[in-house]
Amino acid sequence: MDRILLHICCGPCSTVPLRLLTEQEAAFVALYDNPNIQPAEEYERRRGTFLRFAASQGVEVREGAYEPKDWDAAIGEHAGVYPLIEGADDYAENRARREARCHACYAYRFERLAAQAARNGFTAIATTLSISPYQFTELMADELAAAATRYGLNSAFVDYRPFFAESVRVSREMDLYRQNYCGCRWSQAEAEQERAARKARYKGDGSGMS
Ligand code: SF4
Repeated sequence: MDRILLHICCGPCSTVPLRLLTEQEAAFVALYDNPNIQPAEEYERRRGTFLRFAASQGVEVREGAYEPKDWDAAIGEHAGVYPLIEGADDYAENRARREARCHACYAYRFERLAAQAARNGFTAIATTLSISPYQFTELMADELAAAATRYGLNSAFVDYRPFFAESVRVSREMDLYRQNYCGCRWSQAEAEQERAARKARYKGDGSGMS
């Protein structure tokens, strides 16, 4: 049986994967390592939410160092705000740019995950990030597998997207803090612009009037 180091992106996204792995009696340890999250106050808020949840579930946790400058350097030329607004002329271009940025982000985080797993005697790596329907799932799976291969590990990737609604429900029931953007400062700006565009469209088509 593999000994899995499980990358945790946040408390809400971890709810179902931790339940499933526990039910499967999998041998796993959770790793909270997310230097992509900005600002630092937001990082601490998500970290605290996850640590409290993990403690309530009796899950063993390890943590990576919070090194946002190193993450910034890894993103390099892909940095930028790329909102995806339905019908906008720049939709396709922004989607391609965001995909490249998120690809670099997955690569950086999974390299750290695999290195830490190999150093500490794990045989496989996995991530909870795949529960989000807003991510680039295939890219994520490919990067996890590539990082695992570089370190002689197995990829225990699971596409958790079918459990997203359950994770929202459970995290609400448990009163876990749910953030409204992915993590980096650019995703925060994107989410704000996309919400504003949806609100404007909702008002414009009259469906917001009662
Ligand atoms: S949107 Fe999320 S996955 Fe993409 S670069 Fe930002 S933090 Fe990373």
